[in-house]
Amino acid sequence: MKKPAVTVLGAGIVGICCAIELQRSGYQVDLIDRREPASETSYGNAGIFSLGSIAPLASPALLSRLPGLAANRYTDFRLHYPHFLQLLPWMLAFLKRCNRNTYFKDGELINRLTVASVKAHQDLIKQSGAEHLALHNGGLRLYRQEKTFEKDALERELFRRYQVEYEVLDGEGIRKLEPDLNNRFVKGVWVNQTISIKDPQALCQHYARYFESLGGQIKQLEVKGIQQVGDCWQLQYESSKLQTPKLVLCLGAWTPMLLKPLGYRNVIAIERGYHSMLAPQPGKVLNRPIFDVDCNYVMAPMSAGLRVSTGSNLTYRETKPTPKQIDQVLPHAREAFPLGEALIDEPWMGRRPSTPDSKPIIGPAPRHQNLWLAYAHAHMGLGMGPITGQIIASQVAGKAPPLDVAGCSPNRFF
Ligand SMILES: Cc1cc2nc3c(=O)[nH]c(=O)nc-3n(C[C@H](O)[C@H](O)[C@H](O)COP(=O)(O)OP(=O)(O)OC[C@H]3O[C@@H](n4cnc5c(N)ncnc54)[C@H](O)[C@@H]3O)c2cc1C
Repeated sequence: MKKPAVTVLGAGIVGICCAIELQRSGYQVDLIDRREPASETSYGNAGIFSLGSIAPLASPALLSRLPGLAANRYTDFRLHYPHFLQLLPWMLAFLKRCNRNTYFKDGELINRLTVASVKAHQDLIKQSGAEHLALHNGGLRLYRQEKTFEKDALERELFRRYQVEYEVLDGEGIRKLEPDLNNRFVKGVWVNQTISIKDPQALCQHYARYFESLGGQIKQLEVKGIQQVGDCWQLQYESSKLQTPKLVLCLGAWTPMLLKPLGYRNVIAIERGYHSMLAPQPGKVLNRPIFDVDCNYVMAPMSAGLRVSTGSNLTYRETKPTPKQIDQVLPHAREAFPLGEALIDEPWMGRRPSTPDSKPIIGPAPRHQNLWLAYAHAHMGLGMGPITGQIIASQVAGKAPPLDVAGCSPNRFF
């Protein structure tokens, strides 16, 4: 019997995982992207499936930093003022969530999604033969000052409430784990179940090949628009049209461009992030990703060198890259670890589509049949790809999802 067909648009980590899970559930899946799989945000992230990054960005701890954040005084956040008015509704919705109750409620769902997803990643890594890309050394949050460590107490309360295993280290403990780090850090929080990936694009490409081995097809096409025709969806390409009975949108930051003509207003802001790649000095090794909390960058060991990536450059649409944050953090990264030459000429830029509640949008489109949405994974899309795929596959099949994900429903915005 012919399998029912589904089209997944967007071959980043989220689209690839949706395509795999749908194909595994018995659908015949076409996965479509204008570029090679994982050429956008899924290419250049820090590669962390972080069991320790479950905290929503909207935190009560942020309120005392508001004046400095608004003045672009910190390196973890930079507001693109030309888009201030368009971003205002997003920012107000975000600020409303900076309270304890909401923080713990959103954190609970993020934690459940992350735990389930990391487990699913382990299965996919095995199935796709990508074991050589995974490091199982955990992740380290590092503090240069005791007072910064104290200010992060709420996050550790979140960890304890949701059973995230962690260990607090002093300077000596940090040196035992990372002997080549310079002596800058007085405290560390080690989440040792975190997994990190030495080449996120290569991981996605292993998953994409695995999808093909299940019988799925990848097509390189740019989609210009989508339109409902009867019970089906018509995809408009440069010079052709195609119909599909069921459609899943996983276009990351570009999803609103296809949703807007259907009457769904844009509800995301774009948190741009930058990375640079640097060589370690000869003989020096970083064993796991570190987050330098005082200086706001992540440094992660990759096959090609060390990847230093930044926090958020909050903006709205496509605007010219403004990689000021990478320039600001690189001297601190050099202070923390013996880094050598830069391995890329220009910083890479990625776009993290972000909701005010830090949770992705996953589920059926509220006002259209046979259309599902899976986007806005912000800082956690690499980690959350597999569980997103499982949720979408069950919803497309009309089954209950593997966990209660009402908190991710598109209905909360549209
Ligand atoms: C600096 C930085 C560090 C990060 N670190 C981490 C981390 O350590 N861990 C983690 O979990 N997450 C991290 N993230 C976030 C993570 O990278 C994203 O959440 C994730 O990659 C999103 O995947 P996606 O599939 O939704 O989107 P994308 O990877 O952006 O994929 C969207 C796809 O849609 C395609 N597309 C768009 N428009 C069209 C069109 N019209 N027609 C056809 N195709 C189209 C694009 O080509 C693209 O391939 C980081 C992000 C950044 C920027």
